Amino acid sequence: MKTIGLIGGMSWESTLLYYQQINEGIKKHLGGLHSAKIAMYSVDFAEIEHLQATGQWEQAADYLAKAGINVKLAGADFLVLCTNTMHKVAEQIENQTKLPLLHIADATGECIVNEGFKKVGLLGTAFTMEQSFYKDRLIDKFSLTVITPNSKDRKIVHDIIYQELCLGVINEQSKKEYLRIITELISQGAEGIILGCTEITLLVDKNDVDICLFDTTAIHAQKAVEVALSL
Ligand code: GLU
Repeated sequence: MKTIGLIGGMSWESTLLYYQQINEGIKKHLGGLHSAKIAMYSVDFAEIEHLQATGQWEQAADYLAKAGINVKLAGADFLVLCTNTMHKVAEQIENQTKLPLLHIADATGECIVNEGFKKVGLLGTAFTMEQSFYKDRLIDKFSLTVITPNSKDRKIVHDIIYQELCLGVINEQSKKEYLRIITELISQGAEGIILGCTEITLLVDKNDVDICLFDTTAIHAQKAVEVALSL
């Protein structure tokens, strides 16, 4: 079994899910007392959020690359960056650590293609919904059409992530807003919805909607298990 290098803490609310789901996945495959070999570096999210909000992406890349070098020294064979947003600097992390990084958009794109879908809605932080690093990967590598909410709704989705979900706050009114926005994306032709922020799964799940949800946390964790076990 390979050792999984987790770069987490963005936020720790979702890193908890990664840790649990990866261990459950290894147990499911190997049985008994087996559990995942994990080396993890968990950042102080306030520091990362400050770098994001002030546009200091190179500094954020260096910060996360250092975390990656630490998990490499601890024995990691490959990296799993436990956030969609910070994949904006995935390439710099890979280059600096010289470790393969399991890209969250690739794992998600593969799942969407396997479902046979062509058009999907994307929810996530403003960085993920509005910039090219995530959407273009899905468009270019997987030939998908990716739609996002209008600007007012993107702000609602973004603010709920940072002001509630990353703080572990689950609010019924916010859930209603997310469901309203998902319904709007469906009316625009989305065949599935990417929960493109690792905390959204804390608020919305498959029982809430009649459409296929792509839970990036679960997809990424599952992919890490497959790579660790060379499946
Ligand atoms: N966990 C979130 C994501 O998947 C947002 C926090 C962050 O900015 O990293 O994008």
